[in-house]
Amino acid sequence: MKKISILGSTGSIGTQTIDVVRNNPDLAITALAAGSNIRRLEEQIREFRPSVAAVWDEKAAEDLRVRVKDLDVRVLSGMEGLIETTAGTDAQITVTAIVGMIGILPTIEAIKAGKSIALANKETLVTAGHIIMPLAREHGVRILPVDSEHSAIFQSLNGEPRERIEKILLTCSGGPFRGCTASQLKGMTPEDALKHPTWNMGRKITIDSATLVNKGLEVIEAGWLFGVNADKIQVVVHPQSVLHSAVQFTDGAVIGQMGTPDMRLPIQYALFWPDRRVMHTERLDLFALKNLTFEQPDMETFRGLPLAYRAMKAGGSMPTVFNAANECAVQRFLSHEIGFTDIWDIIEQCMDDHRVIPDPSVEEILEVERQIRLQIGGGREEH
Ligand code: NDP
Repeated sequence: MKKISILGSTGSIGTQTIDVVRNNPDLAITALAAGSNIRRLEEQIREFRPSVAAVWDEKAAEDLRVRVKDLDVRVLSGMEGLIETTAGTDAQITVTAIVGMIGILPTIEAIKAGKSIALANKETLVTAGHIIMPLAREHGVRILPVDSEHSAIFQSLNGEPRERIEKILLTCSGGPFRGCTASQLKGMTPEDALKHPTWNMGRKITIDSATLVNKGLEVIEAGWLFGVNADKIQVVVHPQSVLHSAVQFTDGAVIGQMGTPDMRLPIQYALFWPDRRVMHTERLDLFALKNLTFEQPDMETFRGLPLAYRAMKAGGSMPTVFNAANECAVQRFLSHEIGFTDIWDIIEQCMDDHRVIPDPSVEEILEVERQIRLQIGGGREEH
């Protein structure tokens, strides 16, 4: 039996991880955590019988305790609950499928407890990669990417040393607004932006896909995961989302991973690596593919991407500013308080105003985030 815990089990990645567990009887769940969706969490607890369940909100935790009082499960709340979920049970792997920088501390504690990390929560690496990666090395812990692009790169590298990487080719669907002009984008609503052409994801990441901020976060994430600098990461717009990303090696070979867009594949790959398990999903039908196209990203219109490169090159606390300003701006956009293109203006303004803290501690990262939240408003999304 392989034991896992899931941080953010009720969300898009979380429920797909649950699906992978259903399809692999030798996987067991020891702990689950969610924000406040206790109805779904209760169903998951009844199905998988973890020893720990955590809900961020204490009131929701109280309700959950009543609902599952017939079961042998400890229900916790707040940060203590998240840390217990990732580090406090005998799980070998923890899946970090929570949204936002709230994932940093539970991930750090999981690493210290020797758990492998199946990492979906990219904000943790974007803002604290300089802490997470050395800590993982120190504790001999694997960070296994769940993000489809990073999983594709990981699969393409297949153990090749990073000196053999000439370039990472990070693919991008282009989002729902690919080809739009800046003036067309001004009037786009949350409802327009939530229609992603190829992937079905959580609300925040879907908006991030439309602004290309998500791709920017992925560039920074790739830098940490694969130990390459910004100049070695090329974003390639590929609207069909068939090639999930590729690596160009120093001998000119390009090795990529293709497949249908189904997040369960990278999740399962991370959970069983280095093994590759059977998965009964739709197969890629090469004969049905009419066209695979590749374009340069429109960096002038979709400013999320150049802002991310700027944050990555500045380093230190700047990626935190990029990420936190975006989180706040996206919440305000989803609440119809600001327009679509204001998201970029807000991020840029915050970055212009920021004095970089080199090598920030976790406390400094969280303080920078707090300051940005105070400045911009836009709390976390309601659960
Ligand atoms: P969702 O919004 O669908 O799910 C987020 C999950 O986190 C939910 O279970 C939610 O609980 C939980 N959560 C939120 N806040 C808290 C909190 N304070 N305490 C405990 N749990 C909390 O997000 P996604 O699944 O789309 O994304 C998760 C992460 O994975 C993000 O970092 C995203 O960038 C990344 N990712 C997502 C991909 C996708 O296809 N969706 C692809 C690659 C990466 P509740 O349900 O109660 O709100």
